[in-house]
Amino acid sequence: MATQSLTLQPSGHKMPLLGFGTWKVSKDTTADVVLKAIEAGYRLLDCACDYGNEVQVGQGIKMAIEKGIVTREELFITSKLWNTYHHKEHVPLAFARTLKDLGLDYIDLYLIHFPISLKYVPFEELYPPEWGNMEQDPVPIHETWAAMEDLVRSGKVRDIGVSNFSAVLLMDVLSYAKVKPAVLHIEVHPYLNNSQLIKFAQSKGLQITGYSNFGPASYVELGSPTAQNAVPLFKEERLSKIAADHKKTVAQVILRWLVQNNVAVIPKSSDPVRVAQNADIFSFVLSEKEVEVIDGMNIPLRLNDPAGYANIPIYA
Ligand code: NAD
Repeated sequence: MATQSLTLQPSGHKMPLLGFGTWKVSKDTTADVVLKAIEAGYRLLDCACDYGNEVQVGQGIKMAIEKGIVTREELFITSKLWNTYHHKEHVPLAFARTLKDLGLDYIDLYLIHFPISLKYVPFEELYPPEWGNMEQDPVPIHETWAAMEDLVRSGKVRDIGVSNFSAVLLMDVLSYAKVKPAVLHIEVHPYLNNSQLIKFAQSKGLQITGYSNFGPASYVELGSPTAQNAVPLFKEERLSKIAADHKKTVAQVILRWLVQNNVAVIPKSSDPVRVAQNADIFSFVLSEKEVEVIDGMNIPLRLNDPAGYANIPIYA
């Protein structure tokens, strides 16, 4: 299956518009789920230290390569630096651990996961440290960014970028970056279209990856009251009508709305039918009117906000 891609300006490398998310895929199923996603045509895998399953993602990649389904060069692997490793001396350590866990000798894209710096937790104490004891340990972003740039110089990372950054923080990074951020990775779905931030980042030459594309779905299972009180996107009437008109599912319409706006998507599912369905988004086109209708669904409703679960209001 031919997957369309975006060019990353700093390196000239291509990033697939369609990827597969690995957050909350349970360790015991991850290797198989990843293998099946690659079999279904996904070429980008969105990983992170924080997801606690990079060893198993690596096993899935290894199986896919050994079966001859794909070569390493045909895959695009993203991972993320966790909040407890922002000091310059911890960045290479955290990256080396991710690389070893994934069983790779380079990764395509390494992101600062959050603009939040927490106290260092040694690997032997707890890995991944998650939000740990929540003790903040501020590190200027320029220090972390310089260490990320060194990873590019080492040849083990092709591009670097940021996740959950606002426009102001992006301006800050752009003011000193010697290696420019290639990607901004943010929450994007019909209830939070983030259009201003997307336009701004695109105007500065960054590509966008939207996460949690199905909005509340991912957060209902975490017990989030905000998500539980929202109308599920899969039941939203305007989306259901557009989906019926195209003989597609609501999930496919949401993903299509994003890729049509050059926003890369990374849906997550462990169900093979949904995995295949979510990949079939390049065979139809939404009209301008349909795009306008979906753009008009912005509330905005943010579901992944550390103010709620870590008492750190990065969007205040
Ligand atoms: P998602 O929007 O991909 O939704 C997942 C939920 O939707 C699951 O409950 C799944 O069962 C369901 N689903 C998937 N396909 C479906 C379909 N076709 N029909 C009906 N239901 C379907 O949620 P997500 O996992 O939060 O986001 C995707 C990925 O984004 C993550 O796995 C992770 O890789 C990344 N992410 C990054 C950050 C970050 O801070 N950088 C935060 C959240 C997620």
